[in-house]
Amino acid sequence: MKKMLINGEWCDAQVGGTIPVIDPSTGQRFDDVARGAKPEVDAAVRAARAAYEGPWQKMTATERGRLLIKLAEKIAANEEELCQLEARDTGKPLSTARNDIKVLARYFEFYGTAADKVHGETIPFLNGHQVTLIREPLGVTAHVIPWNYPAQMLGRTVAPALAMGNACVLKPAEDTSLSALYVGQLALEVGIPPGVLNVVTGLGEEAGAALAEHPGIDFISFTGSNEVGTLVQQAAAKNAVKCVLELGGKSPQIVFDDVDVERAVPIIVKAIIQNAGQTCTAGSRLLVQSTIYDSFVARVAEAFSKVRVGAPVMDLDCGPVMNPAQLQRVNRYIQEAKASGVAVLAEGTIDAECNDGGYFVKPTLFGGVPRDHALACEEVFGPVLAAMPFEDEADAIRLANGTDYGLLAAVWTENAGRLTRVAKSVNAGQVFMNCYGAGGGVELPFGGTKRSGHGREKGLLALEEVSTTKTLVHYHG
Ligand code: NAD
Repeated sequence: MKKMLINGEWCDAQVGGTIPVIDPSTGQRFDDVARGAKPEVDAAVRAARAAYEGPWQKMTATERGRLLIKLAEKIAANEEELCQLEARDTGKPLSTARNDIKVLARYFEFYGTAADKVHGETIPFLNGHQVTLIREPLGVTAHVIPWNYPAQMLGRTVAPALAMGNACVLKPAEDTSLSALYVGQLALEVGIPPGVLNVVTGLGEEAGAALAEHPGIDFISFTGSNEVGTLVQQAAAKNAVKCVLELGGKSPQIVFDDVDVERAVPIIVKAIIQNAGQTCTAGSRLLVQSTIYDSFVARVAEAFSKVRVGAPVMDLDCGPVMNPAQLQRVNRYIQEAKASGVAVLAEGTIDAECNDGGYFVKPTLFGGVPRDHALACEEVFGPVLAAMPFEDEADAIRLANGTDYGLLAAVWTENAGRLTRVAKSVNAGQVFMNCYGAGGGVELPFGGTKRSGHGREKGLLALEEVSTTKTLVHYHG
């Protein structure tokens, strides 16, 4: 049984008991985590406040940064164990889990090295005055993360907050808390003071809600579904607390008739297969110019039919989905699309060795999807790709922008002018041109427009989100 980390100590839940930890590739329980709730959240917020006002704030930015770099090195030194843990907890192939742990370490390295490079400004003002704008931490920051990339999400949201000098309370998803607890242990080992990073495990509606509405937090970062994101923003609003929301997506791959087919096809397939499609930035819509629609989609179908699904140790193209609810949700989208007459162009294969109790889904490519169909508009969060044709540039932009989401997009064309025009017209936080980077790029500011959320994570911009400014006006005569 794994306990929670509050104020540098490992704690049980006062009343909640435990939550089973299930291996998605077998459906079998292999561990338990503490089911924290309001009392644990209260204790964690208190601990974070004390650490923030105490040892953490007394350190120089360089000292803080060095501790984060040490944590990055410690994560790298424990890569194999973390990788095995993450793969078992999430069901993802071992090589995907390994990449996630490398990215986790990279977040702490990137923000560790940035900690003492956050500079202020001077502002010209009245004669006899000196005005300085300084950047300060917010205080206690809360972080609620989902189950799809537990390790990466932790690094993405916690590393910049710590680099800026905030103290954090992290609530991992109830399905996947193990890597967060492991990193909490490593943080203590490298000398990050107790209370600076607290990990409260528990259910969303208990621990997550208690954290979001806690009057003692100064900021909340939430990554997850739109429904819960709205609740978190409402809770933050009640306390007038700033919040960053990273929500869903329905990202388009916009393919023009002069595309470099050999380059595009494998990247497009990987962008939806990666992590069994449970990626907010999955390229889940394939928009292809009508002049090459049939031939291009046939090439994608050929590649798609070779996709293989298996348990983490098989290290195939994708693993199972996360839990029974997710399995049901993805299969419902597939069944309903089939029932409504949408053509299946290709399906992947679930390896015969897969355990019957695992949550495996057959990756499916649908073609000629009507523009108003659920598959064209809603986030499936599974390995399901919806192909549809467009006529010209204007039609492509209209179609690409025709959902509630605006997280990522990709444009594929060898025409440089069109590439830039379309990229600038697409409503999304990131646009890839002749490439795709689902989840990649610690250095690259990331976040949504429209219903995909607001605020930016990653890159140096993330440091602005987890800090505030103070304007110092000095009359010196
Ligand atoms: P979810 O919203 O159900 O859960 C996310 C987190 O919120 C979990 O830790 C959960 O315990 C917690 N939570 C649940 N109810 C809560 C409540 N009432 N108050 C506070 N916290 C609560 O989402 P999920 O199913 O874990 O993740 C899937 C969704 O996340 C998808 O929509 C996906 O697109 C999105 N996502 C977005 C990004 C991004 O960066 N934009 C990244 C990953 C996932």
